[in-house]
Amino acid sequence: MTEQAIRIEALRKTYKGGKGQPEKQALNGVDLEIPRGSVFGLLGPNGAGKSTMINILAGLVQKTSGKVTIWGFDQDANPRQSRASIGVMPQELNLDPFFTPRGALEVQAGLYGVPRLARRSDEILEMVGLTDKAHAYARTLSGGMRRRLLLGKALVHHPHILVLDEPTAGVDIELRQMLWANIRKLNQHGMTIILTTHYLEEAEEMCDEIAIINQGELVVRDSTANLLGRLDAKSMVVHPASPVVDLPQGTGLTSELRDDGAVLLRYHSNQTSAEEVLAAVHAAGISIRDVKTNEADLEDVFLSLTKSG
Ligand code: ADP
Ligand code: MG
Repeated sequence: MTEQAIRIEALRKTYKGGKGQPEKQALNGVDLEIPRGSVFGLLGPNGAGKSTMINILAGLVQKTSGKVTIWGFDQDANPRQSRASIGVMPQELNLDPFFTPRGALEVQAGLYGVPRLARRSDEILEMVGLTDKAHAYARTLSGGMRRRLLLGKALVHHPHILVLDEPTAGVDIELRQMLWANIRKLNQHGMTIILTTHYLEEAEEMCDEIAIINQGELVVRDSTANLLGRLDAKSMVVHPASPVVDLPQGTGLTSELRDDGAVLLRYHSNQTSAEEVLAAVHAAGISIRDVKTNEADLEDVFLSLTKSG
């Protein structure tokens, strides 16, 4: 069995309710394995439990039960090694306003026990484009600069795994491109990347594999290519002029006769064109009275996968 970057087993988190507040089941028994070397996307609507999962990985939130293994280290048995294996860029832009970017990186490196000679603060500042802000106070940095500094902080201890919680939520196109370029480069150098996003386009662009969670449960986990294959699924309903004798046949095409006498055809538009589907209908001796097509787009499939109940 190949060693995973992350192994999550039966992970549960219940937040205790405050005064008059009910408790909240944020994670409901999630099992998930994330392979080494991948760019892995964790998707889900707001409140799905993405940040909870990531904050548990980061050691910022205490799980209620379950097992978390990071780079082969059990989080409970080996908290130090598991923490050293992972760097997290949090969703909130919380920075100490009295530190400069360079100071913040040095302090972070100190917290992780990185020896002075092994620190790469200037290199990291260069990478995230903050060299000219190295000595500015954090409170004077724009939102985009703060985000880049948080990325830098996640990297000070050379982690095997980098986790980014909604890295590009609300950022402008330029910063998004920069973050994407940084992420790709880090991954090419062997770092495993996990990112949460609710931008489907971002997941499509960046991720090899995707897990979708909703209401604290894993809904689907598949390669991006397979998921896009699903998203590419099209259907066509043909109402025939007279009762159907033979169903249409063709490669990449499935057909069934509905109770109302119509024929439902399913196909993938990247393999089979609508024209070929219609040709198969004609070849089966069916004359068409009416036809309707349906295409699922990313949003539809996402919604259907995350629909409650
Ligand atoms: P996501 O990141 O997918 O938007 P979160 O993990 O932030 O989801 O939240 C999952 C659920 O847990 C939500 O219903 C949220 O309100 C709740 N939650 C998150 N943090 C806390 C907390 N500290 N106390 C109580 N409930 C919380
Ligand atoms: Mg979140």
